[in-house]
Amino acid sequence: MATSLNIAVAGAGIGGLAAAALLARQGHQVTVFDQFDAPQPVGSGLILQETGLAILGELGLRSDAQRLGAPLRRLHGESVGSGRTVLDVRYDALRPGLCGVSVQRPALFNLVHDAARTAGADIAVSTRIISAHAATGYVTTGAGYTLGPFDLVVDALGVRSPLSSRPRTSLAYGALWATLPWRNGLGFEKDALAQKYRQARQMAGVMPSGRLTESDPETLTYFWSIRADQHVTWKQSPLEAWKREAIELWPETAPLLDGVESHDQLTFARYDHRTHTPVVNQRLVHVGDSWHAASPQLGQGANMALLDAYALARALGQPGALDRQLRHYKAMRAGHVRLFQMMSWLFTPVYQSDSAVLAWLRDWLAAPLSRVPPAPQILAAMVSGGLGSPLKRLGLSPGDQPPSDFNR
Ligand SMILES: Cc1cc2nc3c(=O)[nH]c(=O)nc-3n(C[C@H](O)[C@H](O)[C@H](O)COP(=O)(O)OP(=O)(O)OC[C@H]3O[C@@H](n4cnc5c(N)ncnc54)[C@H](O)[C@@H]3O)c2cc1C
Repeated sequence: MATSLNIAVAGAGIGGLAAAALLARQGHQVTVFDQFDAPQPVGSGLILQETGLAILGELGLRSDAQRLGAPLRRLHGESVGSGRTVLDVRYDALRPGLCGVSVQRPALFNLVHDAARTAGADIAVSTRIISAHAATGYVTTGAGYTLGPFDLVVDALGVRSPLSSRPRTSLAYGALWATLPWRNGLGFEKDALAQKYRQARQMAGVMPSGRLTESDPETLTYFWSIRADQHVTWKQSPLEAWKREAIELWPETAPLLDGVESHDQLTFARYDHRTHTPVVNQRLVHVGDSWHAASPQLGQGANMALLDAYALARALGQPGALDRQLRHYKAMRAGHVRLFQMMSWLFTPVYQSDSAVLAWLRDWLAAPLSRVPPAPQILAAMVSGGLGSPLKRLGLSPGDQPPSDFNR
């Protein structure tokens, strides 16, 4: 590395911490700022795809993630109205042994947080960032302090980053999420994400989500699609009324929902779709959701944040001036980002919207077509994040996932 830069990473989420770890390892002086008072990721399970796993491999964290997570070999969805299987993606249609890994968000957070700390990044908590000056590299905080100047400010503040444009579209539907204990004998497959739909208005999902630490019990993630404008009404209505609706859609979830005793056990996540431009503005660069936010329907956001982090570190490792390096960063990622933003925009309403027409087309046209080769291979490539060859663009190749790395 030619020059050691003084870098501010705004946001200690998955993208920010991965970037901090990689950049600190390169010898840069890295400070991560986050508004939280103590490291505390919120949220439920998320799926690591081959793309994100490859980056975790570069960070030396892949085996740990696989040990804590649950291997996902299949995504399966059934429409209760038509009784048809309308989603059936098998990862191994693309490559034998390929799978996703479902992890608890806090488990992944702990891994990247420790990697950033070990690499020498400073993590400054209780610091709410409100603006950054792209030309000078100064950052201002909610408490009125000016920090810097920094050679580079990495915006990893997520979907509501004040350093990037507002979400262009808040999607009509979000979801309620809960982490519940995994119980054998309930009829859920241990290596599959299962979903049930009533048209596109109702959707529930169950997926195994591994354990927080190796000594913790196994969990699953339950989610229930809900219109954002109905969340308050849901919170004010009796929980039992909602449970009846959820069990009517999917009777097998009744024993799981027995464990839900208050509305607070379900966290509401609102979804936004937004692609921020410019990605690079003088000393300011965006990674993760601050650049490209989408609904989690395709399960790619965290993986894309990891890809961005790696691309940024790789670009800064190239010879040349900073502006040239940052242009290289953008060039490595922009195509993949465009492709997945478009696919997420197209696919999300098929599973979460008020459109009866889209649901009908999904059940009676798309579902049968999806079983005709090469559709299964294309779907597996899309779900595993490999469409557009994002790893190849970063000089990486998809690795193998030894089954022995899974804790089961
Ligand atoms: C319910 C749900 C399920 C999902 N499932 C998946 C999945 O299966 N697979 C997948 O790949 N992705 C999934 N995603 C998407 C994924 O979580 C995001 O794409 C990913 O977390 C983005 O990482 P990030 O680092 O860009 O931002 P974040 O992880 O959102 O981190 C942003 C950080 O910035 C901090 N911050 C925010 N504003 C400020 C401020 N003003 N000042 C200081 N700090 C601030 C926050 O505290 C946070 O720590 C899911 C998302 C949701 C909501």
